Amino acid sequence: MRVYNFSAGPSMLPLEVLERVQRDIVDYRGVGMSVMEMSHRSKPYEEINARAEALLRELMNIPDDYDVLFVQGGATNQFSAVPLNIGTGSRKADYVISGNFSQKAFEEGARFVDAKIAASSQDKNFTYIPKLSEKSFRSDADYVHICYNNTIFGTRFTAAPDTGKIPLVADMSSMILSEEINVKDFSLIYAGAQKNIGPAGVTVVIVKHDLTNRADPKCPVMLRYADQVKNKSLYNTPPCFSTYVVAEVLQYLKERGGIPAVQKINERKAKKLYDYIDASDFYSNSVEKSCRSLMNVPFVSPDKELDDMFVKQAATRGLVSIKGHRLVGGMRASIYNAMPEEGVDALIAFMDEFAKNNG
Ligand SMILES: *Cc1c(COP(=O)(O)O)cnc(C)c1O
Repeated sequence: MRVYNFSAGPSMLPLEVLERVQRDIVDYRGVGMSVMEMSHRSKPYEEINARAEALLRELMNIPDDYDVLFVQGGATNQFSAVPLNIGTGSRKADYVISGNFSQKAFEEGARFVDAKIAASSQDKNFTYIPKLSEKSFRSDADYVHICYNNTIFGTRFTAAPDTGKIPLVADMSSMILSEEINVKDFSLIYAGAQKNIGPAGVTVVIVKHDLTNRADPKCPVMLRYADQVKNKSLYNTPPCFSTYVVAEVLQYLKERGGIPAVQKINERKAKKLYDYIDASDFYSNSVEKSCRSLMNVPFVSPDKELDDMFVKQAATRGLVSIKGHRLVGGMRASIYNAMPEEGVDALIAFMDEFAKNNG
């Protein structure tokens, strides 16, 4: 039996995609072998690689002056790749600290460049997104780095901050493809696939072409955007199978009406859950309302023991991996694209029953 998996990542994939992958697993479309066994220099794999890029460009409206890369190392590798590739002018970079991952990006950046914390929401345990304006940043910074959706704390930006002429870099690991964004507002976007795009092992990088040719000479070749661009992400053996599943997820999203359609469903799912929590005197969510994530919804019951009980009992109902991150405690429902609306309904029904039994 399939469960509703609320894991923050790796997370659910659409059942239809898993079934398509199952259909292809022994013999990919008459090629006579699995994608896992295929040369990355073969025609069928080149088609998969090109299809993944074309679909992502179409779904996100990525302009032609941006490159799209499928690389390894996770979003975390981009914490180093970004400063090494584009932090090479003034060698200053400004970071907005809105949670754990942006803090990690900042610490890694500080190994390579003069990294500065331009703003932080640590004073209120990251329950809001700092207010920003062009004045928040050093005018000669090589880039500004933000984390668009804070997976652990359940906050999100609702628009790109104004950074003037300074290139804006965004970690979109836990929200990419969940809502419409204007790629032109950013100079560089990256995202590990395992939350909203596909399986672990592949990371998407969308980068303005004119930023790909200024890497530090010491930048390792695997991190260097220029080499990945020149080789269409096939500089060495890529994560073929993961990229293939990504292509299937993108195809599936396109068939469902693309990002605008998916965004509507995501907004409805999140609203149901937040409305229920807000109306309840048993559960609470401490995030400032205007900053609430559509993807990660942390909440707590009146005490820690009840939280533990909630997590255990939910699992027996097929609502799994709902324990909150250790930095926040309580519960966290990650409701990415692949979480069906019925999963959110089932969660709310269980929450209600649990509150009645324990309130
Ligand atoms: C999960 C996550 C990461 C870490 O991703 P890896 O692919 O495991 O390196 C970084 N940033 C955000 C926002 C995340 O949600």
